Amino acid sequence: MPEFALLWGKHATLEDLIVGILLRNGDIVTAEKRWRGDIRCRGGRIVELAEALDAGSEDEVLDASGHLVFPGGVDPHVHMQLPVAGTVSSDDFESGTAAALAGGTTTIVDFVHPERGESFLAALAARREEASKAVADYGLHMAVTWWGEETARWMADCVHQEGIPSFKLYMAYKETVGLEDAQLIHALEAAHNLDARVLVHAEHGDMVEHLRSRLAAAGSLGPEAHPRSRPPELEGEATSRMTILAELAGASVYIVHVTCRQAAEALAKAQDSGWEIYGETCPQYLLLDESVYEKPDFEAASFVIAPPIRPAEHQEALWEALRTGVLQVVATDHCPFNLEGQKELGRNDFRRIPGGAAGVEHRLALLYSYGVKKGRIELQQFVDLVSTRPAQLFGLYPRKGSISIGADADLVLWDPEATGTISASTHHHNCDRSIFEGFSVTGLPSTVVAAGRVQYKDGDLRVERGAGRYLARSLSA
Ligand code: MN
Repeated sequence: MPEFALLWGKHATLEDLIVGILLRNGDIVTAEKRWRGDIRCRGGRIVELAEALDAGSEDEVLDASGHLVFPGGVDPHVHMQLPVAGTVSSDDFESGTAAALAGGTTTIVDFVHPERGESFLAALAARREEASKAVADYGLHMAVTWWGEETARWMADCVHQEGIPSFKLYMAYKETVGLEDAQLIHALEAAHNLDARVLVHAEHGDMVEHLRSRLAAAGSLGPEAHPRSRPPELEGEATSRMTILAELAGASVYIVHVTCRQAAEALAKAQDSGWEIYGETCPQYLLLDESVYEKPDFEAASFVIAPPIRPAEHQEALWEALRTGVLQVVATDHCPFNLEGQKELGRNDFRRIPGGAAGVEHRLALLYSYGVKKGRIELQQFVDLVSTRPAQLFGLYPRKGSISIGADADLVLWDPEATGTISASTHHHNCDRSIFEGFSVTGLPSTVVAAGRVQYKDGDLRVERGAGRYLARSLSA
């Protein structure tokens, strides 16, 4: 390599041109084991693991003393720059992935939502353009928003050519992205034929629409009507129906944002019968209760998400479902809208409030503080819930979600004693409100390494627009 020799002298090798990091004295925690040691990263990958490593020509040595070291978080359910109800979610791929990195999440999986009549591959190309400014690595799930003659073939193209082995189905929102049962069945069968995984938004869409109209007609137009239009029974019914349809179609299904006892019970029942079915919940459902909809001055609109925040008794059912393995993943459904100018579109009619809230930055801190520190879940299970399982379920493992030779150098140095208070005034989300405003947390990332580079350190983001890579995923071994 003479050109390198010219630049770097005769002893230089390609490796010398690649950024290196040596992480020392780590209390390393993965889903499988915990050990004390050093980690060497080169060229964006983990290249050496040992109890003690000598410093080489690394650019940076990180002392992890007093810290836990986790594989970077993987959030498989986020919506950057998503058009909803006449507006667009307020984090784009750049600000959203930056916020993710600041919180220890080094990989996201977002979605492609084709218009009805639009080819999936055309929608994918447009979405990849929007995502190209991401600062962290990302994948995309394909939403099956309509069913036509070519849909099954497009799904095959997604799996075989585009690195998309996962499809989202909506049982609600039939006017825009949701499917009728007959179409759901086609999509489930196509997914089965492709050995793909299906993510499902489970609510009884027709009844939700009926209740929304009925509440509005009766003059209930404020945000407090939102939870009344989407009761937990409708989530339980849809979850139960989907488990049965999925089993009969032979599809592997993952229910997103499980919020309530009824849905958790439906999942547990299907799992007991031996079917492969997975469930996700989100911090807002574990930690907030329905009283948020009583907040005055339209502040309640910030909490308009679907499914809604439930009465407090559902929280314990969700923690129990995490403990017992009925739910395997904690994601965020990050989809922020500013109260001013966005949520306000529905000031006179809750049906026009764009549904969604910010969360991608705080998933690890909230689950660590209120799960691990409170004794509700074990530390290694925490790593599994926020990183390893989502990586495995969506075809990213072991490149993501593990600390192993050859894996991407995505590492979180976690200070278990660091404390903070979540606030919209300090978060990295591009959003004027936080649904976790005032929540105190113990345990925060102090340094985040992604793609082998220090991208967050002591409150300082060092990210590069467009440095995030599209992740082609595969579920075949
Ligand atoms: Mn979502």
